[in-house]
Amino acid sequence: MSATGTGVVIVGSGLAGISVARELRKLDATVPIRVVTADSGGFYSKPNLSNALAAGKSPTQLMLTLREVLEKQLNIRIDAGVRVTNILLAGQVLETTAGRIDYEKLVLAPGAQPIRLAIAGDAAAAVLSVNHIDDYAVFREQLASPSVKRVAILGAGLIGCEFANDLRSAGFEVDVFDIAPQPLGRLLPAQAAAFMRQHLEAAGVRFHFGVGAASVERAGAASGNIYSLTDSVGTVHAVDLVLSAVGLIPDAALAAAAGMVVNRGIVTDRQLRCRIADAESQAGAGRTEVQVFAVGDCAEVEGFNLPYVMPIMAQARALAKTLAGVPTDVAYPAMPVVVKTPACPTVVCPPPPGVVGNWQEDISVDGVRAVFVLPDGSLCGFALCGTATAEKSALAARLPALL
Ligand SMILES: Cc1cc2nc3c(=O)[nH]c(=O)nc-3n(C[C@H](O)[C@H](O)[C@H](O)COP(=O)(O)OP(=O)(O)OC[C@H]3O[C@@H](n4cnc5c(N)ncnc54)[C@H](O)[C@@H]3O)c2cc1C
Repeated sequence: MSATGTGVVIVGSGLAGISVARELRKLDATVPIRVVTADSGGFYSKPNLSNALAAGKSPTQLMLTLREVLEKQLNIRIDAGVRVTNILLAGQVLETTAGRIDYEKLVLAPGAQPIRLAIAGDAAAAVLSVNHIDDYAVFREQLASPSVKRVAILGAGLIGCEFANDLRSAGFEVDVFDIAPQPLGRLLPAQAAAFMRQHLEAAGVRFHFGVGAASVERAGAASGNIYSLTDSVGTVHAVDLVLSAVGLIPDAALAAAAGMVVNRGIVTDRQLRCRIADAESQAGAGRTEVQVFAVGDCAEVEGFNLPYVMPIMAQARALAKTLAGVPTDVAYPAMPVVVKTPACPTVVCPPPPGVVGNWQEDISVDGVRAVFVLPDGSLCGFALCGTATAEKSALAARLPALL
């Protein structure tokens, strides 16, 4: 790739996009790197959003590096506030809200979109989701209102439980609703989930399991609360803010429209290279190999969509080498995820989806040690709560690599 050409263009300035830029710059001091991003282009750590109240951080304090500083540090160009609207593969051009941008190699890192539940009611549009620092600023602005005392959270997954713990630490009343029978339904086996529930309830979180939200209405002036949330069994709850944390869906719209293969996320091989649905039309366009890659929450790498920090860092390191001319497969070692619920310290390293085996749980007063064991007796995942989290590194070392 030439130092004077159009170089590498990255769509998105989240952890994935900026990490690719950082890693590539370490390997190549001169290749042009241009980041095109719909947001301000500054860098923040998204995991900090769900424990910022306890950490005493405002949205402004969470912004770690401003765009101008990043541009200088990494010798890159960041087009902030610019949305990519179309990818023209044949011409290697992006159409954007600020005009056309040529690329030699394209990295897609647009992240994921919060899932919006079908909720009725005249205040359904007021339900917030937090998947970006700008969403978080809106959330904090509303929390700062003296009339906001009681927060309803839809979803008792990892993000819902982290926000619940954080809001309790700041003195808000918190009600969490989930159609599942337990917290972290996709990550924790039954006893570990019961342990987490018990400790978050002891911290003051109120769980409503087996029920979802049916409607959110503006409450009458006399009610003293801002909204009425009616759950799926008809019980009405007076609340002041509703936060939805029911999951994310990879943002694959641009890739799909450009003819790339999309499943749950943008499908890539181990080198993070996208596949074109109609390979023959690519051959007709005179190219044998597509120079488009996907990383981060948007990507489905060899069947795995892993929206977490560690896999993204592994992807960024591997992709930087490929972009620098040394084709490199991404490797996934065991990658435990720390759940930021101080009321119940928890670490999870779930088995890959579909793997046959069973959970074995050891319960004590202080914690739960759960290991997922295959029929041949080998370890394939774990979930640790309370004092058992001390075993994180030892158990991770015994797990097979995911890729
Ligand atoms: C509250 C919260 C807490 C979390 N905590 C943890 C944790 O403790 N541990 C952990 O491992 N993971 C955690 N995660 C997950 C982790 O933060 C994400 O996996 C990661 O930040 C995703 O990075 P990304 O760059 O793929 O996407 P994003 O950060 O979403 O970045 C996407 C970028 O693309 C841009 N963009 C999108 N569409 C366009 C377009 N059309 N044109 C131009 N730009 C576009 C956006 O502006 C943005 O810059 C957490 C997530 C959340 C929401």
